[in-house]
Amino acid sequence: MRSPSNRPGASSNRPADLVVEILCPHCHAVLDAHLNHCTHCGRPTTAASCEPAPAQSLIDRPWVIVLTMLHVGFLGIPLYWHTRYSTRVKLAMIAASILYTIGAVAGIVWGCVYIWRMVHGA
Ligand SMILES: [Zn+2]
Repeated sequence: MRSPSNRPGASSNRPADLVVEILCPHCHAVLDAHLNHCTHCGRPTTAASCEPAPAQSLIDRPWVIVLTMLHVGFLGIPLYWHTRYSTRVKLAMIAASILYTIGAVAGIVWGCVYIWRMVHGA
């Protein structure tokens, strides 16, 4: 015995036959499913035609910049330069990354010298 609802390949159960009404994604009017454009606002009803949210590039997120700066310092300058920020902000980020790198390298060198002196009793 086969139940008609889960019969594979049943041609009479195409999804297009089941959907009779849709909501306009723009004005939320109830429309016939076969309509390509809303009869109320005239805009396309297909999901693909919804205005795409402006995709924010990953490098334009401040926390990505901060993480990059903390990890690679001034080596990330090409990345900082390709963000959407103004030239002034980019230059500030580059200056901050250079200062941070100098400080980090100085700290590491100081730490190594400190440990070296502790170990060798200088
Ligand atoms: Zn509409």
